[in-house]
Amino acid sequence: MERTFVMIKPDGVKRQLIGPIITRFEQKGLLLTAIQLMTIEQSLAEQHYGELQSKPFFSELVHYLTSGPVCAMVWEGQHAVANARALIGKTNPVEAAPGTIRGDYALDIAGNIVHGSDSTENAQREINLFFHADRVD
Ligand code: ATP
Repeated sequence: MERTFVMIKPDGVKRQLIGPIITRFEQKGLLLTAIQLMTIEQSLAEQHYGELQSKPFFSELVHYLTSGPVCAMVWEGQHAVANARALIGKTNPVEAAPGTIRGDYALDIAGNIVHGSDSTENAQREINLFFHADRVD
């Protein structure tokens, strides 16, 4: 069964949105198979967003991700990657449709509440980064 990595970012945790966000994924029909509240180190944030290293906002992004605890999760189900991305909504909350997580809870691209893997390959890479393999199987 397909798996995806979802992370509630520090602003989502601070705003006490873990419950409502998990509810949306559960109501959709996805299955939560791993969850961990953790404060991540700069090196993990840099590895996670390695593809964005050349972007002007990269250091702001790393600072944001390490500014407080995140909630790292693995969700499983049919088309888990695409279904999770649909629940999350477009990257920029201004463009995210009402009914999506970013559309309902976020105002600004630099504080967009939640991350979801964009491919099955990246999902596996991110699950390996945040969870030891023996925790999710
Ligand atoms: P994520 O990987 O967090 O799920 P995404 O795949 O929808 O987001 P990416 O283009 O990979 O979008 O951007 C990763 C993250 O970088 C965004 O979620 C956002 O937090 C941040 N980001 C993207 N563009 C900007 C920007 N112009 N200014 C500040 N932060 C940005």
